Amino acid sequence: MNEQPFSVLPLRSELLNNLSSLGYETMTPIQAESLPAILMGQDVIGQGQTGSGKTAAFGLGLLHSLDTEDLNVQTLVLCPTRELADQVAEEIRRLARGLPNTKIITLTGGTKLRPQADSLARGMHIVVGTPGRVMDHITKETLELETVRTLVLDEADRMLDMGFEDAIDAIASYVAEHRQTMLFSATFPPEIKSIAARLTIDPVLVQIAAEQTESTITEHFYRVKNNESRLAACQLLMRHHQPASTVLFCNTRRETMEIAKALNAEGFSAVALHGELDQRERDQRLALFANQSLAVLVATDVAARGLDIEELDMVLNYQLANEAEVHTHRIGRTGRAGARGVACTLFTDKEQSKLARLQNSEGQPLDPDGCSEPLPDRDALKNPPPHPSMFTIEINGGKKQKLRKGDILGALTGEGGIEGSDVGKIQIAATRSLVAVARHSIKPALRKLAQDKIKGRSYKVRWMGED
Ligand code: AMP
Repeated sequence: MNEQPFSVLPLRSELLNNLSSLGYETMTPIQAESLPAILMGQDVIGQGQTGSGKTAAFGLGLLHSLDTEDLNVQTLVLCPTRELADQVAEEIRRLARGLPNTKIITLTGGTKLRPQADSLARGMHIVVGTPGRVMDHITKETLELETVRTLVLDEADRMLDMGFEDAIDAIASYVAEHRQTMLFSATFPPEIKSIAARLTIDPVLVQIAAEQTESTITEHFYRVKNNESRLAACQLLMRHHQPASTVLFCNTRRETMEIAKALNAEGFSAVALHGELDQRERDQRLALFANQSLAVLVATDVAARGLDIEELDMVLNYQLANEAEVHTHRIGRTGRAGARGVACTLFTDKEQSKLARLQNSEGQPLDPDGCSEPLPDRDALKNPPPHPSMFTIEINGGKKQKLRKGDILGALTGEGGIEGSDVGKIQIAATRSLVAVARHSIKPALRKLAQDKIKGRSYKVRWMGED
């Protein structure tokens, strides 16, 4: 399909002008297919993976019909996780740059209800939230949804997997029936079809073949002898490919911990991500992985939900996923946005039947003998484990202290400081901030932050080391 510019759409000019400043020149396939219907106010059901540009598809749609003079909530976007809600809100904020005074709030757990309620009381246009927290506000009568005209369900399959079906139905019952509903999901099991049938009217279906987001991923399959051979194979593959960031998928919480421990003992910098971590611990591990201070995240599928890491070099499947769709989802996390990615999957003879359920890029079932490759040469064991390129510094001040990214960057790079190019991701939370700096600059960076004030105040700083 030819790439079409956004200008073929009857999109309000403030949005169009901003798109070119964001560098969005042409529409992605899901945008080209869904936006004409979205802009006409039709209900839409879209099948699209993260990376397909679906956020901008519904984001432009909801902003197109937004009336910033009206301070009632006009749009509700439901997402499965806090991370995804934050990302979606951020993307909508960027798209809304041409519409001054657009008020967007994220309503997710892990923070107090009261400040959120206070913000809502002052008037909001767009709410992006997780079903649990949105329901809390409805129950406490701090969120009024009768004025909502656009309802979006993002990653609907994940929300149902996480047990949010009842909450979604309840929330939708508070939204006026005369509304536009957009539902996006990577997969369409029967429960999704049924919730889509309940919540949408005469929807336009938009399906984008997966290959558009997979084209830069090289998939490799390796037959291993038994369970015990898996760990050694993973090490060999990482030492061979030297990926800066790897997500290693396995099946159980216990495995995540055991594998992370074993990899650390071998000199890798790995951490486990499983469903029983508390939110703070989870956020911290994800932050360190996303800012390149950790090289390997060992995760279960459930724990990795909503994970969106830019520049993921490798996905390692310790075992085959039980379902083909889960496999596609796993490998869809690498090779995003034109970057190159490698997906390596290990299987034993016992898993052959699962393998046969997968398809190659031409849609043919995989043949276990045909697809399996020999592991890299053992010479690769001479390579060191891939090192993370950054270290993280924690500063005991954040949004409450009105710290901004620019303040921290300025403090680090001011007189006697480090190069701006050695400063990585800066994440500002309520009362603390994390900043990634290149490994070779850690000492001067710590010294500079410990000695100098940031915005006139001294803060405690700490190298987060490899804890
Ligand atoms: P998503 O699938 O919504 O998570 O989007 C994937 C990434 O593509 C995001 O970083 C967007 O900022 C970016 N993106 C979305 N639409 C376009 C476009 N038309 N042109 C260029 N980048 C885009």
